[in-house]
Amino acid sequence: MRIWIKTPLAGMPPGAEGGLVVEGAEIAGLVPPGQSPVADQIFDAGAHVILPGLINTHHHFYQTLTRAYRPALDKKLFDWLVALYPVWAKLTDAEFRVACRLALAELLLSGCTTAADHHYVFPPSLGHAIDIEMEEAAALGMRAVLCRGSMDLSTEDGGLPPPTVVQKIDTILADGERLAKTWHQPGKGAMTQLALAPCSPFSVSADLMRETAKQAARLGLHMHTHLAETEDENDYCLACFGKRPLDYLEELGWLTDHTWFAHGIHFSADEMRRMGKAGVGVAHCPSSNMILGSGICAVGALEAAGVAVGLAVDGSASNDGSNLMQELRQGMFLQRAGGGIGAATFRDPIRWATEGSARCLGRDDLGAIRVGMQADLALFKLDELRFSGADDPLAALVTCGAHRADRVMVAGMWRVVDGAIPGLDLAALMAAHNAAARRMRGMG
Ligand SMILES: [Zn+2]
Repeated sequence: MRIWIKTPLAGMPPGAEGGLVVEGAEIAGLVPPGQSPVADQIFDAGAHVILPGLINTHHHFYQTLTRAYRPALDKKLFDWLVALYPVWAKLTDAEFRVACRLALAELLLSGCTTAADHHYVFPPSLGHAIDIEMEEAAALGMRAVLCRGSMDLSTEDGGLPPPTVVQKIDTILADGERLAKTWHQPGKGAMTQLALAPCSPFSVSADLMRETAKQAARLGLHMHTHLAETEDENDYCLACFGKRPLDYLEELGWLTDHTWFAHGIHFSADEMRRMGKAGVGVAHCPSSNMILGSGICAVGALEAAGVAVGLAVDGSASNDGSNLMQELRQGMFLQRAGGGIGAATFRDPIRWATEGSARCLGRDDLGAIRVGMQADLALFKLDELRFSGADDPLAALVTCGAHRADRVMVAGMWRVVDGAIPGLDLAALMAAHNAAARRMRGMG
């Protein structure tokens, strides 16, 4: 089956304004203007702006259950976490599954085709969190890079989380081994991949960080963690380890080209240079950083140092949303708010959310519209009030604030059609999700 996505309004590389041909799961050809390729099906994209499928590099699906949670509002990261840990400790398989489905649906409808999630809360009531995430992503036809998170440093050992949500190192490593065998696809076109992801320096022991790095190298997996999110974290690391966060992780074997960090706000110029040299990536999370008042990631300096910068919505309790397209606009505006008009163009967040994110995840088959790449595409119409009167259609997606894709293709299959996910009852999903959120808050 060859599908010709014909003459998109904007977004094709120069010389390919006639569109592209999808065959199987891949982009099989680019079409020069005025030409008509052989195809079994034609999709007229004359009203659509096309982008490579957006790639989210950091999220916590379960946090959709604690959006705008009253006791956590208006708090900085550490206080915010302390307010939320006891609620998250009540997670069960049923609540977790509905949270994953809702977060994935929200991402997909915003044009996201590959979703990384970082799940690190494992109370005894939540048996197989990563397996549930894998199943839910597969049901929606999305690519998933799921990060087996972990915490082993509770308040009893000088960490931040309560004992009810941490696990022992042996349990964590054994589960990582099992999940890698069950779900990780190493090659081109992979739909499910596993990464290993201790939560942060203030909730994980040095032993767990070190053993995770060894395990990831042995199994050929990527590594992920929160790093340099706040000044409080710098202070914590200096007080507890006598080192800044990056020095601490470097010593534990974490400066590798298989590593990407979430946030990466508070790095020095020398630290950025070392990260670039090592091939480390950063998942930039603008909305979360703004809501929690964490600071502004120096995206331009990171990229100039050779660091791959991807984009991410972060958890729905710190962003209160899982809309990746919206994050492009936030990302561009935040850079300009911090660094002036020259700090970002409208094209920059498009690059972060596609090529940059793909580099973070170690994927050279995603993030661009080129022959041989996976056919992951997001198509947006400009037929809403917010776009009316716009001149440059590609810029309009970012500056006018596109929220919802009209069509999304993953691996050559349409997964969003006319702004909806075929077969998914959103009203029923929201009812189940709201009920789960109420149960988590102890309200029935
Ligand atoms: Zn996070």
